[in-house]
Amino acid sequence: MIIVMKHKASQEDIAQVTKEVTKFGLMVNVSEGSEVTVVGVVGDKSKLNSDVINSLSGVDKIVAVTESYKLANKKFHPDPTIIEMPNCKIGGKELVIMAGPCAVESKEQLFESADAVLGGGAAILRGGAYKPRTSPYSFQGLEEEGLQFMQEAKAKTGLSIVCEVTSIQAVNTAANYVDMLQIGARNMQNFELLKAAGKTKIPVLLKRGLSATIEEWLNAAEYIMSEGNPNVILCERGIRTFETATRNTMDISAVPVIKSKSHLPIIVDPSHACGKKEYIASLSKAAIAAGADGLMIEVHPNPKEALSDGPQSLDPQEFKTLMEELKIIAAACNRTLL
Ligand code: PEP
Ligand code: MN
Repeated sequence: MIIVMKHKASQEDIAQVTKEVTKFGLMVNVSEGSEVTVVGVVGDKSKLNSDVINSLSGVDKIVAVTESYKLANKKFHPDPTIIEMPNCKIGGKELVIMAGPCAVESKEQLFESADAVLGGGAAILRGGAYKPRTSPYSFQGLEEEGLQFMQEAKAKTGLSIVCEVTSIQAVNTAANYVDMLQIGARNMQNFELLKAAGKTKIPVLLKRGLSATIEEWLNAAEYIMSEGNPNVILCERGIRTFETATRNTMDISAVPVIKSKSHLPIIVDPSHACGKKEYIASLSKAAIAAGADGLMIEVHPNPKEALSDGPQSLDPQEFKTLMEELKIIAAACNRTLL
């Protein structure tokens, strides 16, 4: 449930409400919004006496939150969450582009990619050091050496860096290197991994599971947030449907649905959604028009030789051209792009 405070409620009023709720061992989440302050309550509400709460000074009303996710719920936090990165903010007016190779293959390949994405106007360099491949015989990533290369690329370019983590051990190692942890589609319901990412305060990019409903996805975000990490960015990356013309089916409606249900930023990954570079431009434009807060795009200096996901990777020139086109869409949607 949430306790909505009156417009003129004072800090003392809010403190009194918090005291009343926490004395029964429930957790509160105070969200001081631009319009109104909301005190979210998590835990066994049967212990609370709503008449007592309603009678407290500054309380406007009590509203039930029927959804199982609370901290990720827009009712708990009516204003959009803006996540601070070293060189940008995610969830505000500015669109944030994350780009780079599927996998970190070598220092040279990564540095070339970093220069390309910086030149195109991306703020965040992506690169997988732990690769969750469909086949165990495919390239599995450079692991910690890959993270070191990512950190060097950051020092060289000023880009923030994001890497996928596939195990609790990888979370602990990557926490020493990256600005953002990525939880991949295949691990969206790996609850121990979500909890480990939640114990860090590092922003987490949470990709939608291959067959996950939006409710399951928001509950996965809740696992991270309930461990004390409010910095979650959702990423729509395509879902499994009967359609085989594209690698997955990009669920464009996920963007407005998430915006209506959650305060968390959402970005779209058209590369993994479609699997083919020729569709990336159209899907990127659609994502921005639908209200996404940014994009994740695979860029490789030489896609034909990529060790993973070459067919869905743009080369540096293609990325630059796309970024120019996206500026027009961004402006039409009252968003800005670097
Ligand atoms: C990736 O971003 O490299 C990746 C493996 O994505 P997903 O988890 O969406 O398949
Ligand atoms: Mn990939």
